[in-house]
Amino acid sequence: MNVQSISVSRETQVREVLAILNATGGGIVLLVRADGTFERTVTDGDIRRLMIDGSTIESSLDGLPKASSIVIDEKYTRRDALSLMNQHVINHLVVLDANGKAIDVVERSRIDDQILLSTPHMGESELDFVQQAFTTNWIAPLGPNVDAFENEVVELIGSKHGVAVSSGTAAIHLSLLLLGVGPEDTVFCSSLTFAASVNPIAYQGARPVLIDSEPDSWNMSPKALERALESAKRAGKLPKAVIVVNLYGQSADMDPIQELCRQYGVDIVEDAAESMGAKYKGRPSGTFGRLGIFSFNGNKIITTSGGGMLITEERELAQRARFLATQARDPAPHYQHSTIGYNYRMSNILAGVGRGQLRMLDDRVAARRAVFDLYSEGLADIDWLELMPEPEWSNSTHWLTAATIRPDVTNRSASDVIGLLSNELIEARPVWKPMHMQPVFADAQYFPHDNESVSTGLFERGFCLPSGSNLTKEQVERIIAVIRKM
Ligand SMILES: *Cc1c(COP(=O)(O)O)cnc(C)c1O
Repeated sequence: MNVQSISVSRETQVREVLAILNATGGGIVLLVRADGTFERTVTDGDIRRLMIDGSTIESSLDGLPKASSIVIDEKYTRRDALSLMNQHVINHLVVLDANGKAIDVVERSRIDDQILLSTPHMGESELDFVQQAFTTNWIAPLGPNVDAFENEVVELIGSKHGVAVSSGTAAIHLSLLLLGVGPEDTVFCSSLTFAASVNPIAYQGARPVLIDSEPDSWNMSPKALERALESAKRAGKLPKAVIVVNLYGQSADMDPIQELCRQYGVDIVEDAAESMGAKYKGRPSGTFGRLGIFSFNGNKIITTSGGGMLITEERELAQRARFLATQARDPAPHYQHSTIGYNYRMSNILAGVGRGQLRMLDDRVAARRAVFDLYSEGLADIDWLELMPEPEWSNSTHWLTAATIRPDVTNRSASDVIGLLSNELIEARPVWKPMHMQPVFADAQYFPHDNESVSTGLFERGFCLPSGSNLTKEQVERIIAVIRKM
């Protein structure tokens, strides 16, 4: 707001104040002393009270009582300003410089735009599919939307079978059940991931062995995997599966990982929860393991609010997954069970949401990549920060734009950056805390990339920036401006 145009003195006539209030529509003028310092705000309510007390429109503002207005220092943060406004139930704040001069008036509507990390982004056809479910009264787990959603996903990624389930975690658990993972077994898993990748190993009473990242993709290090497999072979106990996680929309380096797993005869479960729509050497994420999984949780690139899918080329595995996910009912007319089952299938209503979302996947990938490109350009000359690398074999969705700080250039920590952004109502988050650093997996064996643990460093130096496909260019530019000011 142009402070000059709304500044008045005690000599100013009521008429003139009313004219300014009328012209600006901002609801306030600033009463300024002869030395230029700010005295108080004047609202149309203040003028009304003056006139009730006998002032006319020719009167000056001399009759205005002394009052202290709520002001804020020029080094304010959005968070400070908003909490002050909330505390005093006001929508304006006068900003003062070090000399007590008004330099700005912040309005609530200008600053209360909170930018979140990644929010659901609905398309246009979700409600139609949900409506179909209502119209036909398919308000149940399973149903035509579920079948169609499964078919549409596998068609899109070029696989054979999809089993829609209640979460990505359920899909990982089913994968381990299908591979026969049990209490005596070990399962390898990327260490730098969300706990949901590893927890299902514990559900089966098996032991996780955690594998470090490599610096080029932040995903499973083939070097660490090779050492882990050699070591397991020497100990006479190969893992039942290797869960390979694709972080923040980017595939792991699948060729060497697949080659190693082939060599040792170990199955891959590809945790593509974060990488739907991504490609590795042109081939869609989710199709590299004997089993692959997607998540449709609310923060993922497409969502059913909660849901997941198991992907496989093998009909028997898909059939077995459906059986286990629907309480493992034997094919008998009475309720007979020969094995422990689970209630993991997706509802027909949520699958309707998924079908609508799936139609937007290409757009969502393009939008997230565009957000990354904006960061990339806007921060190119900032030497203390590096964005997550994208190797030439990768086509990342940039589900989240992640970055690391360079401790050789700055003393600032990742949590400092997250805090400074939070002060401006921008939600950034740390990089996943690696599983080998988690209290709950403290006993798990861990294989670092080399002498140095790459994932540990990424956790210490890394953070994720808001990356939603529904961010506006202006919002990303605001985030970039805040970072540049650091
Ligand atoms: C989100 C996520 C999961 C779990 O998916 P849910 O649908 O939330 O159960 C698993 N692995 C990774 C890497 C994830 O990001």
